[in-house]
Amino acid sequence: MIKVDEKGFYGKFGGAYIPEMLYPNVEELKNNYERIMESEDFKKEFHSLLKDYVGRPTPLYFAERLSNKYGAKIYLKREDLCHTGAHKVNNTIGQIILAKKLGKKRIIAETGAGQHGVATATVCALMGMDCTVYMGEIDMERQKPNVERMRILGAKVVPATSGSKTLKDATNEALRQWISNPVDTHYIIGSVVGPHPYPEMVARFQSVISEEIKYQLKEKEGRENPDLVIACVGGGSNAAGAFYHYYNTPEVRLAAVEAGGLGVNSGKSAATTALGTPGVLHGSKTLLMQTEDGQVIEPHSISAGLDYPGIGPVHAHLFDSGRGEFYAVDDEDAMKAGIELSRLEGIIPAIESAHALSALKQIKFDASDIIVINLSGRGDKDLDTYIKWGGY
Ligand SMILES: *Cc1c(COP(=O)(O)O)cnc(C)c1O
Repeated sequence: MIKVDEKGFYGKFGGAYIPEMLYPNVEELKNNYERIMESEDFKKEFHSLLKDYVGRPTPLYFAERLSNKYGAKIYLKREDLCHTGAHKVNNTIGQIILAKKLGKKRIIAETGAGQHGVATATVCALMGMDCTVYMGEIDMERQKPNVERMRILGAKVVPATSGSKTLKDATNEALRQWISNPVDTHYIIGSVVGPHPYPEMVARFQSVISEEIKYQLKEKEGRENPDLVIACVGGGSNAAGAFYHYYNTPEVRLAAVEAGGLGVNSGKSAATTALGTPGVLHGSKTLLMQTEDGQVIEPHSISAGLDYPGIGPVHAHLFDSGRGEFYAVDDEDAMKAGIELSRLEGIIPAIESAHALSALKQIKFDASDIIVINLSGRGDKDLDTYIKWGGY
């Protein structure tokens, strides 16, 4: 049974490993999120914004030419058609309504490549909330367009200048800020990571993805359950959303695809389940890439969204329990799969999503199988990477 327990554990993984100073903030969230999320008021606002602002339900598209190529019936869940171009906004919409209902006035967030920062800045503009996004100084250099997007949307982007000046340092900075402004500030985390209740809360906001897949597949195929669901995993929020309503339906196979980078054994990879060991990262016990003395190893992936040294605790549990199947796709293969989808279906996918597509080459399935691939985002943001790679 895949289900979070009261302390936030999925099997051996999860929990809330946080400094004492953060305890009141996390406790307030933990004690209120379920009640608020289940209130009619919340549901009405959430679903109305998902419909009219985000553009949900996103289509479940039968990809005929892709299906012919791989010899199965393949559907694409089109999260790339969400406002802002990816699934991340499902979560930020949910969290900003929650923040409002908790009486918060200010939002903070951390961002690596800037995509979660943009999704947060977007909903803050929508709700007229003050928004500060912490971003590693080096990431700000690498991801200038996203920095400018956030600024256009009215957010403050604050460089994190300590340590490696990347995501880890931005997260530390955001946590420090949260500790010093506990009463009026909500911290929006961008994936199914962080201390309990974040992983379960974010998964529930994203679970709209599998809720829609169920009825859309029923309409198209006369059954709610595909044989196989495939999704890429950075922290794991789009995968958790696509898997959520199938966790406890064992006849539906769940395939999670991590970034192999330059190769799982190259020293430049983000394949956490292949390389990771149990440890604590960002407030939860999970699998992470670390040295023997517990130093986090810098991950590598060509896709910014998968470039994360850990994995959400629910995925660590899916791996550990054998409920999920885990695959790693290298940079080069992901890029080729991105071009393949562009040519076969006229859809340029985000490079993250291209990892899920490429896994079709590794996963064994039958010709009669119905497969759903979660197309987490569109490729516009990755144009520079496609151009630099050039193999098309
Ligand atoms: C951020 C991102 C991801 C990775 O994040 P998850 O939490 O693992 O879903 C995947 N795809 C796209 C398009 C993203 O923007």
